[in-house]
Parts: sequence; structure tokens; C-alpha cells
Amino acid sequence: MTPTPRKSRFRGTLVALIALAFLPTVILLVLTYRQAVRRAEVALADNVATANRRATSLLTAADKALSRLRNDATGRSHADTQKQLVRLVYEDLRFREAGLNDPTGRLVLTNFGPVEPPILITESERCRPGENRLQVVGLIKTAIMREKSIIIGVPTEANGSLNVLVEPSALTVYLDDVDLGPQGYLAFVRADGQVLAAAGSPPTADGILQPSDGQWLTAERKTDDGQIRAVGAVLQSWALRGWYDNLAVVGPVALLCNAALIAFTSWLTRRRTGLDHDLRLGIQRGEFEVHYQPVVDLHTGVCVAAEALLRWKHPEQGVIRPDVFIPIAEQSGAIEDLTLWLVRRAGTDLADVFRSLPDFYLTVNLPPVMLTTNTAADVVYVARGAGIPSNRLVFEVTEGGLIEGPVEDVANEMRRLTAQGVRFALDDFGTGYSSLNYLHKFPFHLLKIDRSFLPGEGKGVAIPLILDSLIELGLKLGLKVVAEGVEREDQAAHLKGRAVQLAQGWLYARSMPARDLKEYLARVV
Ligand code: C2E
Ligand code: CA
Ligand code: CA
Repeated sequence: MTPTPRKSRFRGTLVALIALAFLPTVILLVLTYRQAVRRAEVALADNVATANRRATSLLTAADKALSRLRNDATGRSHADTQKQLVRLVYEDLRFREAGLNDPTGRLVLTNFGPVEPPILITESERCRPGENRLQVVGLIKTAIMREKSIIIGVPTEANGSLNVLVEPSALTVYLDDVDLGPQGYLAFVRADGQVLAAAGSPPTADGILQPSDGQWLTAERKTDDGQIRAVGAVLQSWALRGWYDNLAVVGPVALLCNAALIAFTSWLTRRRTGLDHDLRLGIQRGEFEVHYQPVVDLHTGVCVAAEALLRWKHPEQGVIRPDVFIPIAEQSGAIEDLTLWLVRRAGTDLADVFRSLPDFYLTVNLPPVMLTTNTAADVVYVARGAGIPSNRLVFEVTEGGLIEGPVEDVANEMRRLTAQGVRFALDDFGTGYSSLNYLHKFPFHLLKIDRSFLPGEGKGVAIPLILDSLIELGLKLGLKVVAEGVEREDQAAHLKGRAVQLAQGWLYARSMPARDLKEYLARVV
């Protein structure tokens, strides 16, 4: 028996279960997080697109107005040009002031009239010479306007320039309502990084946009001529506040569910390991019993054998079904002790039956692993000591376990025990691999056809066909066929018609304590 790998496989399964319990929460969090980020990015990109449209519209309007004026102004008097400047300012409310610089860079005329004496404009606030297109020159402080204004100009043929001044708020006016959160901003930035206008408070040094620390979501778009960039940034923590809020609600609920799942799993583990511990104690405390289910000859009704089935009366949990405790006993290795105990018990229980019925035999369920660890031989030895001769002993083994072990070794061990008179039955036949290989590789004497193959209501029309072929297979291989779980006369009739010899089931008798079995035998044998 090798309990350790089985236990560690169980522990591995547990760890996997716990990890699996957290998986939906993790997936949920990742998906909702990505969705929240995407939503915030789309909202920011929308605002940046709006800002870009405003910058484009301003530049287009300025270009149209100034280019028209440049063409018209050539060769005109200052008085005429002033009228044009006035018209320009009236026509577009974004233009607060318009002016003409002479070739030496002095402001000589505005929409308010001639500038006397002309004001020398610094080089950085003038159009770059040699570049004949509309230019976003920068920011300028004038006497009239409180804030610095954006100056946009076009060079004239006479080497001067025509300019308009725009209040920064003309760009941001539609953006002031946009919620950008703490530190978030939408800025209109010249190609060199100079901030011309902004909603929110962009980080700047000397008016130049600076990268800022922290986790930001950002977006930007340029006007077609590349002169103004609309740059948007919001703090990630602010943009994802909705997700964090959800997290505050969903997180604890999900964690609670997971905790419950884990608690349940660990309770299962405790119960399992607890049961394993109780199993061994239970043997010492005499909590186990052996019940016997008769195996009858279908044609004569004579009881030829009995299958020993374990029963456990747990002091706290009541009667525990073998389906529950046998797998645990198999995994922990306690099954060996239990099987040894069972044959000892059966020997004591049925000593007089073996004496009085010379052909009567006992079938014992043997976990296949006991064939690879050679402990099946111990069972035979102990059984003999308890008064059950080897030729009265049949081991029932299921297919599954047989092929898990080293096939040749198992077959050899079975042959060794067969040589001592022990017989083998293939249990639950039809439910496992049902491979012909097993039938001929291992020395079986009996074939126990699982009760799921007996015809019955709602079982489908193919069942009797499968049953018949299983029976035929067994008979052709010279095996004695035992039908399990016969509950009704029509099933018995079907089996008899197919030359099945032996049967077991509630139609004949349920499993019962030794005393009842003896009474039963007195009646039917
Ligand atoms: P199994 O070896 O196939 O045993 C037959 C099961 O079918 C028994 O259930 C029996 O009570 C039940 N049965 C018998 N006739 C009928 C019937 O007509 N109708 C129905 N519905 N059921 C019927 P039990 O005693 O609960 O045992 C369940 C399983 O536990 C056994 O299946 C066997 O795999 C395992 N088991 C029981 N005792 C032992 C044991 O001492 N050692 C080992 N290794 N396994 C055991
Ligand atoms: Ca069995
Ligand atoms: Ca069975």
C-alpha cells in the first residue's frame, strides 16, 4: 500500500480547488478593471477631440480672416486697413484685437486706431520672418486685456505682419464643464510645449508643459498644421473611482464567497482525515459489522455463497455507507486492516456454516492494490486461520484497479493465490473498461455483471442487448456468470433464459447480519 502519494494527490487537488475558488473573482476584477480603463480612455479621447476641433476652428478662422486682409491691405491706407481690422474683430468674437506690425516689428495700427508712437514688439512675440503661413506666435500681454492673449499672425508682403489676439478662454470655454478630477487637465500647447490655454491645471515650468508624476491616463491630438496640440490627462485613480467603488462592494462579497468555499473545503478535508482516523479507531472499538448477502442458484434457488459487505456504525455520524468510507479507507491504507478484520470476523461468524455446507463459499471485496502489495496473501492466510479454507474464498476485484497496477505482477499474484485454491470474480463487470484483455490475462472464475445492465423501466432498449452480450462473453470464456442486483421476477426470468447460473439481489435477499443469514440458509438450502 502506498498511502503517501494518494494523500499528496488529495492535497494537490485541495490546493487546486482553493485556487479555482479565487479564479472567478480574479477574472471578474481583471475584466471590470479593463472595462473601466477603456471607458475612462474613451471619455478622455472624446474631450481631447472636442478640444482639437476648437483649436482647428480657431486657426481656420484666423487664417481665413488674416489672409483675406493681407491681400486686401496691400497698397491701402492705414485708415482703410483699420476699417478692415475693426470688421475682422466684429465678425468673430474670438478675436479681441487685431493689429498691423511694420517691417521693423513695431505695432503701428490696431482696430482701435493708429498707435502713436508705435510700440516695438519683442522678437519672440512677432511672426517668424521667411515663413509665409499663419503662425501661432505665442502669448502676449497687452495694455487692454487682463490676461495674456494668444497671438496669431501672418507675415505681409511688406515684411510686416497682421495679427489677431485671442483670449485663451475662447479655446477652453466649452471645456470648463468637463470633470477632469483633481490635477486633471486639457491643455492647448504650442509645438514647443508652451501652454496657450488650459482647462484644469497642467504642470508647467516657465509656461512649458512638464511631465507629471503619478499614474495618469493621457491622450493628445494635433491640429492639421501641427501648430497646436490638445493634450488631456486625468489621474488614473480618479478615472477608475467607479471601479474602486464597485470593488469596495463586489470585493468583500466575492471574498466572503471564496472564504465560505475554502471553509467548506477545509471542513471536507477535516471530515475526511477525521474519518480516516476514526476508521482505525472504529476497528479497535468494534464499530464495524459484516453483513452477508446470499448468492443464489437461479435455477434451483439454493444459496451457494454469500458476499461479505462491511457496515460501519459511527458513534456520532450514525451508519456510514461503504460507498463513503471504503474510498477513504483505500486512500489511507486502512482498507488492509479492515479486510483482515473482515475475514477474521466472517470466519468466526460462519464457522458452522462452512462445516455444514461443504460447497458454500464466501466472497470478499478485495481492493486490487492488495494484489500489488502482496497483502492479498495475508488475507488468505488470516482467513485460513479463522476457519475459511482457501477453496471457500472468492476475491471480488474491479477492473479499474487491475489495470492501474503492473498487469503482469498482478496476474502472477492471482495465479499464485489460485494455486492455493482461491478463486477470483471480476466485480461490477461492464462499468469499467470491459476490455477482453483483462478477461483472458487474469485468472478469473466468475463474472459479476453490474446491476445497471439489468433490464428496467427508463433504461433504454439497448440495455438487454448489452446484457446479453456480456453474458455470452462470460459463458464463452468458460466463466460462471453472476447477475448482481436482481430485484424483479422478470429480470430473473430473462437471466434464466440466457443460461445465467447465479444471482444476487433483493429479489432473493438483502444483505443481513450473520444470525439472519443462518436462519435464511436453514430455510432455503
Ligand atoms: P458491490 O461490491 O457491488 O456490492 C453490492 C452492493 O449492491 C451492496 O451495497 C449491496 O447491498 C447492493 N445490492 C445488492 N443487491 C441489490 C439490489 O437488488 N438492488 C440494489 N439497489 N442494491 C443491491 P453496499 O453494501 O452498500 O456496498 C457498496 C459497495 O461498497 C460495494 O459494491 C463494494 O464496492 C463496497 N464494499 C462494501 N463492503 C466492502 C468491503 O468489505 N471491502 C471493500 N473493498 N469494498 C466493500
Ligand atoms: Ca462486490
Ligand atoms: Ca458489484
